[in-house]
Amino acid sequence: MVTQPAAGGQPVTVENGKCTTPSTPIVLYIEGDGIGPEIVQVTRAVVDASVRAAYRGSRQISWMRLSAGQQAEIDTGSRLPKETEAAILKYKILLKGPLETPVGEGFRSLNVQIRMLLDLYANIRPVKFMPGLESPLKRPEKVDLIIVRENTDDLYRGIEWESASKEARELRSFLSNKFKVEIENDSGIGIKPMGKSKTQRVARLAYKYAIDNSRRVVTIMHKGNIMKYTEGAFRVWAYEVARNEFPNQFVFEGDLKGGPVPPGKLLLNDRIADNMFQQIITRPDSYDVILAPNLNGDYISDAAGALIGDIGVLGGANIGDSGGMFEAVHGTAPKYAGKNVANPLGVIRGAQMMLRFMGWMEAAQIIEDAVEKSIASKQVTQDLARYFGVTPLGTKEYGSVLVSLMDK
Ligand code: NAP
Repeated sequence: MVTQPAAGGQPVTVENGKCTTPSTPIVLYIEGDGIGPEIVQVTRAVVDASVRAAYRGSRQISWMRLSAGQQAEIDTGSRLPKETEAAILKYKILLKGPLETPVGEGFRSLNVQIRMLLDLYANIRPVKFMPGLESPLKRPEKVDLIIVRENTDDLYRGIEWESASKEARELRSFLSNKFKVEIENDSGIGIKPMGKSKTQRVARLAYKYAIDNSRRVVTIMHKGNIMKYTEGAFRVWAYEVARNEFPNQFVFEGDLKGGPVPPGKLLLNDRIADNMFQQIITRPDSYDVILAPNLNGDYISDAAGALIGDIGVLGGANIGDSGGMFEAVHGTAPKYAGKNVANPLGVIRGAQMMLRFMGWMEAAQIIEDAVEKSIASKQVTQDLARYFGVTPLGTKEYGSVLVSLMDK
């Protein structure tokens, strides 16, 4: 089911998180489930148009379609066929539509499997208000956050056993016999591992990102007051990287004693998770880059998205030392599937991050400008049209508007 790329395409190389991009890079894509095929198709057309507009034919993406999700299961019996896995490992860079994951039972999340495959250890989600959205905040223009979430450790490793299972019984009795820890017989058991090396590599990436993108503050989010040797250690290890590897770039909140941040320095602080949630609502402009462990990062990303009124317009990047996967923050929105009404902006935002990762900044900026113009002229899909009180555009028609705005 893997489609061969157009002739002349060449693989990108990714080393230590840095992508080297030939003029005709092979870029993988998975259309995904639900609304995925519609929004990914439009996104590819928008990306191709931006590349044409930026480079006038001297660069071109050679797209390679991969099979995954519901359709792959029908065609091959597997939601993540082996040849899809092999192509991801070989070509390293992937634009992905949303994939369905059942709650409580069934198969393991394909998104998590793909992240693990390329060891994409950092999930980066920018959340910035766009004028016109209906935010629950009075001053939503203050929201301009980048969430950097650890992607491979913590409870998302999925190490857990059902309450009645043999493994849970054995673990309960081991804990009782060995450590005098008594756990009720009807308890399922999950394990929360958090490691120093996994914490420090994502902290390093977040700090570099903050420095390279001229951000002001990095905040380490954790629940270290309660989970001292996992979340508390995350805080300690993250500070250690800043002290040892970026001593000239950061100033620590504790050292400032209420004074101003010296010019040219970034502020590094930390917040307990529950406080972090209320702070991004009451004082969003005090926060900028938020570095979070896996579970906290998942929650805070959607909470931050809600502040701007619509998570349908947010994209995310999953980055590692040897590859990247780019996607929308939202899921498959099954009720809109096949109706040409879904907003493609989430995947388009993901694709912009992909272009920047590839070093194709000009193309990413052309998309950014076209999106801003479309919003300013109220040419939008139904999710935004309902706030603007205008007639909505379909998914495809919105894509055509973006392409037409690139030449103006
Ligand atoms: P969802 O698919 O994000 O949809 C929730 C709601 O968000 C929709 O009902 C719709 O709201 C709005 N929405 C989302 N995307 C939109 C778009 N492009 N345009 C317009 N509106 C959009 O969340 P879910 O229903 O919880 O999850 C469905 C499936 O997606 C699950 O199987 C889940 O596991 C999966 N999922 C996958 C990913 C991924 O692949 N990365 C991420 C999240 C969830 P209104 O009803 O208000 O219009």
